[in-house]
Amino acid sequence: MTISQDTEQLYNDHVLGNYGLPPITFVRGRGTRLWDDDGKSYLDFCAGIAVVTMGHSHPKVVSAIQAHAAELTHVSNLFRNAPQARLAAKLDALAGGGGKVFFCNSGAEANETLVKLSRLYGQAKCGQEGRCFKVVVADQAFHGRTFGGMSATPQEKIQGGFRPLVPGFVTAKFNDIDSFRQAVDDDTAAVLVETIQGEGGIRPAEVDFLRELRALCDEKGILMLVDEVQCGVGRTGTFFAFEQAGIRPDAIGMAKGLGNGSPIGAVWIDDRHAGLFKPGSHGTTFGGAPLVCAAALATLEAMEEEGVMDNVATNGAHVMERLNALKAEFPDYIIDIRGRGFMIGIQVAEPPGDLVALLRDRGLIVPSAGGNVVRFLPPLVATREDFDEAISILREGVSARSGH
Ligand SMILES: *Cc1c(COP(=O)(O)O)cnc(C)c1O
Repeated sequence: MTISQDTEQLYNDHVLGNYGLPPITFVRGRGTRLWDDDGKSYLDFCAGIAVVTMGHSHPKVVSAIQAHAAELTHVSNLFRNAPQARLAAKLDALAGGGGKVFFCNSGAEANETLVKLSRLYGQAKCGQEGRCFKVVVADQAFHGRTFGGMSATPQEKIQGGFRPLVPGFVTAKFNDIDSFRQAVDDDTAAVLVETIQGEGGIRPAEVDFLRELRALCDEKGILMLVDEVQCGVGRTGTFFAFEQAGIRPDAIGMAKGLGNGSPIGAVWIDDRHAGLFKPGSHGTTFGGAPLVCAAALATLEAMEEEGVMDNVATNGAHVMERLNALKAEFPDYIIDIRGRGFMIGIQVAEPPGDLVALLRDRGLIVPSAGGNVVRFLPPLVATREDFDEAISILREGVSARSGH
């Protein structure tokens, strides 16, 4: 048996079948490249779903992990540890200062924390538990697979089969401030939106919409909660995507790109509301462990040292131009190009599964998203040559699928 057959057999026999997996097993990654167990190399424009910010096995992150694994891996949150403190200070500064940070292990947990914050806030505001608990979310949003995250995700493919859900979530139309205004009532505690909807198909919130949403929250005395789990950590050319609208949310959820592959989630909460969480009111065993925080610190330091956000701005503009040219060449097949920086959606004229498989066969790994979208989510270190290679493979794939 080859390693590949062995892995496939073990998956079939022992791994829960909740993912539809392609016939491929990766064994090694460096920078923007992956290798499978046949030795074939791929350009990785998935980056573990916007996770591997600085590329696979970035030397700085590798040595931080090696050093901390040998020094101190985990102590729980019954005690302080220095990397957690330093990472909190760094993230607070990146969020504009004047806030506090809570560490967890995933995006869904970050959003759970945002929803729990909204409950505490609503109770304090209305002076009674069980009042002022509603959270307005956007259609086509994605906030994770836990009960809170799933209940905040108004999509049948996520919620179906798991009802009853957590009550209190109200859906409004994304990028439609009137719809959000109508959805807010006396029992509303917060709104929760992604700055750029990721799983929903790479739909950016318009700058005006974000500003009007901030104003609406101020007017109604409700929290503006922003899910930057996918679009944050430099992916759009600024550390947080909402910075481009010049707004300050009341709390921010982060995860994916923060640890370069180490599982970490974080929530930043404005000091005006951070005190709602008292000792014992929330927690996690693993969150903020020294090993993982050291990996995240190394990721953030490497981002600064290598100026990746400038790379995102420059090459993001370049790839948008190239993709729009491709759309002009295949107007019947490529319906729309959306996104900012290195968070790009290519909407095509059919369910994207066949195109994604074709690109993979030709050596380009990309994730799909809702609404017939193929995503480009490369590491932020991707070069112009990487993009040119990706676009040339995409062109072959589009040409084959569109029959031209
Ligand atoms: C991926 C994602 C989540 C869920 O994160 P997990 O780490 O998978 O729990 C939540 N919100 C957004 C916007 C995401 O893209």
